Amino acid sequence: MLSACTTVPQAPVAPVSAAPTIPPGMQFLYGSGEAAALDHQAYNVLVDAVRRRIASEKADPKAMSDRTSAVLQPGATLDQPATIPCGDRPRAVVFDVDETLLLNLGFEYDDARHPGRPYDAALWQQWEQAGVDRVEAVPGAIAAVNELRAMGVTVVFNTNRSAATASFTEQAIGHAGLGTAKHGETLWLKGDLGSGSGKDTRRQAIAARYCVVAMGGDQLGDFSDLFTGTPQQRRAVASSPPIHGMWGRFWFVMPNPVYGTALKGGIDDVFPADKRWTPTNSGEK
Ligand SMILES: [Mg+2]
Repeated sequence: MLSACTTVPQAPVAPVSAAPTIPPGMQFLYGSGEAAALDHQAYNVLVDAVRRRIASEKADPKAMSDRTSAVLQPGATLDQPATIPCGDRPRAVVFDVDETLLLNLGFEYDDARHPGRPYDAALWQQWEQAGVDRVEAVPGAIAAVNELRAMGVTVVFNTNRSAATASFTEQAIGHAGLGTAKHGETLWLKGDLGSGSGKDTRRQAIAARYCVVAMGGDQLGDFSDLFTGTPQQRRAVASSPPIHGMWGRFWFVMPNPVYGTALKGGIDDVFPADKRWTPTNSGEK
């Protein structure tokens, strides 16, 4: 018989919901001051570049007539990245949305709780509709779009969110404080113009209406569909003489170590054979 003061051995109780281990990329992008600083850095450089360009075009009519877009011409290559002439079209900046202007905090929270879950297009489409108030603007993005609009520059969104959920994406952008996005005018989505995930068709349509003075994104595909191939090939072309001068002048990149085209490659893709090192006491040959 147990007395009132008898201690009953307790079986170990598993926690109802174990705290998930947060992937380092999520810690960096959504939780670190370093990522916030990188975002501000990119947006500061973008706004300053646009401001300088407008000032030089106003000061020099010839600069106005020579101006070209940040969008590559149809038929351009990354070896010869000719850009679309601007004519007298009004200025715009084209931004990707996810992890460029918007942080998908609600979706990534759920993803962190389901480690190893593969990408599920239906789940993402559900999120596009349900997550309107569970997103947050990327640090620096609100100030940047406000400054651009104050300079008379139209902010255009070109995203691979679905055209079928356009009204929800318009709401998410507005809810995050990034202003008005209107499908078919300032919001371009996957499915518009019959487009798939490639954005060149939409970019060229935007450049037919506007002088695109800068573009912002978190994937190389936010700048051109021509960035293909292995990780090493993409890295080499991003650093090639015709392309490397675009970064921080016409094309502006936000960090995204959580998902996307950057997160590919095995050890042979990532570490050059002639730079490998093994400690002498490791026992390895
Ligand atoms: Mg993105």
